[in-house]
Amino acid sequence: MKPTHVEHIGIAVANLDEAIKYYEDVLNLKCYAIEEVAEQKVKVAFFQVGDTKIELLESTDPEGPIGKFVANKGPGVHHIAFAVDNTADTLKAMENKGIATIDKTPRKGAEGLNIGFLHPKSTFGVLTEFCSKN
Ligand code: ZN
Repeated sequence: MKPTHVEHIGIAVANLDEAIKYYEDVLNLKCYAIEEVAEQKVKVAFFQVGDTKIELLESTDPEGPIGKFVANKGPGVHHIAFAVDNTADTLKAMENKGIATIDKTPRKGAEGLNIGFLHPKSTFGVLTEFCSKN
């Protein structure tokens, strides 16, 4: 297992509209989609930068993971996501290496990708995601 590229960087924001304005007006990137992921209680805005996306995450519920993150730490970088060939296989390989996983098996994330997270306690404090089309 080796990631092919950084698929996206997830950034928690308090206000999606204000953050989109910064990425569009200041950084000259184009928001190409906004999607609500009900299961994770977030609304996500997508920007493409080369092979990598920026995903702005606004919580739709103060009790959701992003709502709690913003309340505790303020807005900022939330996680980094690596593209892999197969998320299920990768999560198993990580477990075999003794890495703490949040997900034992993949779930559906934004854009229909299969995603799974590693626990920050095993990754030097970085919430780490894998995603794949398979
Ligand atoms: Zn993500």
